Formats: sequence, C-alpha cells, structure tokens
Amino acid sequence: MIRERKLREININDLEHKYSNWKDWKWQVRHTVRDIDTLEKLLEIELDIRDKRNIERTIEKFPMAITPYYLSLIDIDNYKNDPVFRQAIPSEKELIISTYDMVDPLGEDEDSPVEGITHRYPDRVLFHISNVCAMYCRHCTRKRKVGDKDHIPNKEIIEKGIEYIRKNAQIRDVLLSGGDPFLLPDEYLDWILTEVSAIPHVEVIRIGSRVPVVLPYRITDELVNMLKKHQPLWINTHFNHPKEITDSSREALRKLADAGIPLGNQSVLLAGVNDCPHIMKKLVQELVKNRVRPYYIYQCDMSEGLSHFRTSVGKGIEIMESLRGHTSGFAIPTFVVDAPGGGGKIPVMPNYLVSWSNDKVILRNYEGVITTYKEPDNYKTTSCDLNCDKCDLTLKIDNDKKIKVLGVEKLLSDYDETISFVPNNNERIERRINE
Ligand SMILES: *Cc1c(COP(=O)(O)O)cnc(C)c1O
Repeated sequence: MIRERKLREININDLEHKYSNWKDWKWQVRHTVRDIDTLEKLLEIELDIRDKRNIERTIEKFPMAITPYYLSLIDIDNYKNDPVFRQAIPSEKELIISTYDMVDPLGEDEDSPVEGITHRYPDRVLFHISNVCAMYCRHCTRKRKVGDKDHIPNKEIIEKGIEYIRKNAQIRDVLLSGGDPFLLPDEYLDWILTEVSAIPHVEVIRIGSRVPVVLPYRITDELVNMLKKHQPLWINTHFNHPKEITDSSREALRKLADAGIPLGNQSVLLAGVNDCPHIMKKLVQELVKNRVRPYYIYQCDMSEGLSHFRTSVGKGIEIMESLRGHTSGFAIPTFVVDAPGGGGKIPVMPNYLVSWSNDKVILRNYEGVITTYKEPDNYKTTSCDLNCDKCDLTLKIDNDKKIKVLGVEKLLSDYDETISFVPNNNERIERRINE
C-alpha cells in the first residue's frame, strides 16, 4: 500500500514535469480524456480488443470523461481492480438493465416544481445549477443527465430557480449541486451565491462538489476568496476510497478549511471499490485528519446501469457496525438508503436496542456488552399544545412561523389528533366508504 502510493507520487511529479500546466485546472479540463485511444496512451496500457470494443459501446450510451489528474491515480499494474479505474472507466456491465432499475430512481424530476429545483423536504431544496462534471462517475445516480445537452441550466433557468426560492419562505437551506457547481466560472458562481444569500429566509447554502477528489487544482485562492464572502457556506465532497486522498487533494481541503468553510463527505457504497469495513474505516480516519467530517454513506441507488455496483444493504450495516465504538464518533457517517420513488434519505444501522420494559431499556454496545438503563421514576414531559407562552421551556416561537408537523412526528405529538396513517387503496377502508 505504502509502496504503491510512493510510486504514484513519483509518477505525478513526473507528470508535472512533463506537462508544465499540470496544476492548471483549465488545462486539466481542456485535456479531459473522453476516448479509449487517449486513455490507453496516457495510462500506457493496452486493453484487450474485446474490452475496448465493449467500453466503446458503453460510451455511446453513457459518455466518459476523466481528468488527467484522476487518471494518474490508477495503478497500472493492477488497473482492473483499481478503485479509481472502476469509478472512472466505463464497463459493459452498465448496459445491463435489470428489472428494478429506474431512469430517475429518486423521483427528482417528479418533485421538481420548476426546472433545476428538487423540493423534497419542507425546509430545503436541491438546486441543480450545472450539468457539467470534471469526471463522469460511473456510479452517477443522475446518469440520465450526464452529457445531455438539453439539460444545461442557462441563466434564465437559474433565475427561475432563485425566484422559486424567493417565493417560498419555508426554504432555509439551499443545496447547490449539479453536475458540479465548481465547474462554473468564479464570477457566475459568485452571482448565484450573492442572489441566493440575499434572500432573507435563506439561512445556509451548501455546495456539493467532487472537485476536491477529481480536480483538486480547481480550488484556487481566487475561488476560495470568493467563497469566503458567502458564509455560512458548507461544502460536501465525495471521496469513496482512501487512495483518493493525495497531496493535491489534501491541499485543496486545507485551503477550504482554512477559509472557515465546514467540510463534509458523502461516500457511495460500491461493490469492488469500498465495500469493506477496513477500507471505510481508513477512509473516514483520513478524512477527519484533513478536517472533513464524514456525513453520509449512501446505499447505491437503483439507477439504470448501476447494478454491478450495488451491494446488499447488509454490507452497509456491517460497515456501520465496524465503525461505531471502534473509531472516533465524529468520524462516523450516517448510512442512508435514498428511498426509491422519492421518499428521501432513510438512515439504517445495526440494532443497539435489545429490549425494553416499562422502566428499563436494555442496550448492547459495540463490544457485545449488554446493559440496563433504568428509566427515571419521576419524569413527566410537558404536554405540548404549541402555546409557548404557557410552557416552562423557553423557546418562544415566532407567531408568524407556524409550526407544522408531518409524518410519524405527527403521530407522536399531543396537539394533533391523527392516530394512524393508512395507505391509499386500502380495500378495507374503501369498503367502509362505500357502505
Ligand atoms: C439529499 C437531499 C437533500 C439534503 O438532505 P440532508 O439530509 O439535509 O443533507 C435535500 N434535497 C434532496 C432532494 C436531497 O436528495
């Protein structure tokens, strides 16, 4: 492992030597590898003629794009098993469409009130401001949109998105995504950030970007100085394997963290890439060393062409079991399944609650120790009728900010009379209505 990384660094130094513009992100973008011949030439490998034809066939449906930097991380002596190779180089397995695969598994287009906005949760929206990426991840959940010229959000679409946010006062968190927002020019992104942060009810903005992983040179001092003006701004990136943490990506993360921008990471659990507790533990530990807080591990979505990347949900739970207790709590992300059909993220984890009675809770820890938590004898909650003036707790709700409850929280509440949720088309209930 260490020997491999050493070799790699020497290799990058060579490349910097050979190409004097290596660290210029625009040079990297101009030299994005989009065809197999260039790939073979740069990697100095020769692919089997059948493999080559299969890759070309795949590219016709799902295009390829790889930065020279990201390509240089591939271990050419064992490229077929390399995690970077698997994330970046097309595979004919992408052409296998299984029965459960969907074009838009998360229903992002259906939950879209205006083009570019996905409004799924009450207080926050996903805002697709770019459909360009530095590298086309083979496991992209939005594969349907990759390279699609019809979906490039122009200024007019973005203005409409901003207008939607302005008109919906419940939106307090705007997540800029894409594509990759950092492939937009600084001035353009500056304009979007200025417009969005000027909206009085927007409290935070987040940017989701894979640039620190696949094009770390994009994190220039100029970009960072521009971003600094728009605090509070949070950035989430997407490292999937410890191998992706290189000197160059460390430098990009350092710049962002030094600018006071909180950093998070969202990984996708991928078969043959990171479906291993040891790899994931190493990854989260490397991330926190670089001031990045692991945020989510996603179960791979059921998008078309991803079936070969999908693991069991159980593998993710096994990984979570290997983290909690075994390493720093702040290095542990939440494992989520993004609900097919568009229900949002659902956290999944091992069971720690073994049993409970009226006054005792039986829990188990990561070592397998089973313990008893005795519930307090005299605990009474205040029954809540949403009238804060009559409550001893000191939150005073703004009168114009009406509290709305939803879902299971509603069933738990004292002030709402709903006692059950019944799915549509329940025959028993329909009989009641008809009788
Ligand atoms: C993931 C996601 C968000 C943000 O979810 P958080 O759990 O707040 O990070 C918002 N909108 C959509 C559509 C999403 O997929």
